[in-house]
Amino acid sequence: MKLENYEMHLPSYSIGGDCYKKIPGVCKDYGSKILVIGGEKGIRSAIDKIRAAIEGTDLHIIGIELFGKDCTYKTVEKLRSLSIYHEADMVFAIGGGKAVDTCKCLCIDDDKPIFTFPTIASNCAATTSVSIMYNEDGTFLKPHFFIRPAMHTFIDTDVIAQSPAIYMWAGIGDTYAKYYESTISSRDENLEHYTALGVNISQMCKDPVLKYGKKAYEDQLNGRSSYELEQVVLAIVVTTGLASIFLTRDFTPDYNSGLAHAIFYALTRYPVIEEKHYHGEVVGFGILFALLCDQDYEAFEQIYRFNESIGLPVKLEDVEITEDQFRQILPELPGMSDVRHYPYAVSVEMMEDAWKKLDAFAAGRSIN
Ligand SMILES: [Zn+2]
Repeated sequence: MKLENYEMHLPSYSIGGDCYKKIPGVCKDYGSKILVIGGEKGIRSAIDKIRAAIEGTDLHIIGIELFGKDCTYKTVEKLRSLSIYHEADMVFAIGGGKAVDTCKCLCIDDDKPIFTFPTIASNCAATTSVSIMYNEDGTFLKPHFFIRPAMHTFIDTDVIAQSPAIYMWAGIGDTYAKYYESTISSRDENLEHYTALGVNISQMCKDPVLKYGKKAYEDQLNGRSSYELEQVVLAIVVTTGLASIFLTRDFTPDYNSGLAHAIFYALTRYPVIEEKHYHGEVVGFGILFALLCDQDYEAFEQIYRFNESIGLPVKLEDVEITEDQFRQILPELPGMSDVRHYPYAVSVEMMEDAWKKLDAFAAGRSIN
């Protein structure tokens, strides 16, 4: 048995329609000059409330910069070259995953205090200690790990309730996937303390999302905050971030991914996936295959029905992939890094069998 030997930095956060009021108390020890960096829509949705919260305090905004389009090293260097960045005592990162990831990549390695303000509930970028880096052409490059996450995350559920519902809808798929992928990946293993925490925390990536997801999505469509919306936002932004910090260490096997992500990444060779669909949407579809391959028919049926209830995909057609296109990616799956650490070897035959079962279930036939 290996002895534990590492350091761990966990996210801290505030949530609620009033949480920006906590900014002065949380940020005052880090200085006074704030540089805001983010996406245009995200900044627009939150900036008035942030200004109101810091009015009359020592904190003041010295500049507002748009981050760009993708989280790339070039974008990060461009921001790093700005003199206003060096003048600022801290950065407020506002917006979705790419905006927040860009700011983390800029600030954390420089040891510049950074606070995150997610304005959509699409993923856990605001609380986690990794940035997903892209190439200049918009394709995926690699994860960039940091020693710690942001200093604090302010999750204003009223701001998030006003954002387009499609982000939460897709985020839900990626969130419950965390539970299934981490529990399957780590099955029957003797886990280190932090990985065991991650796997156990991931239970809460699934339960609240399946319980409250439908109502939360309806409330999000209507632009109104509610208890259910809050629970789902917490699962997407906070729980998944915590689970991911515990599950993804650059020196241990990756328990953070699995067959559903392998299917997503393999499908990205078809432009329609990146152009017209969302990561979490396709991952939520991939989970159906993962559960069928795992012969967990009860969970499969539960996710199938849940996906149907909120319009997440249950068939290839829903993600605009033809049978031929899908058949072509099957031989790629067994060799993909997402299933490198898995309790069994994923095979083409296994996928074909799962596919037959998916069709049979959709046609109302029994699958077990
Ligand atoms: Zn994902």
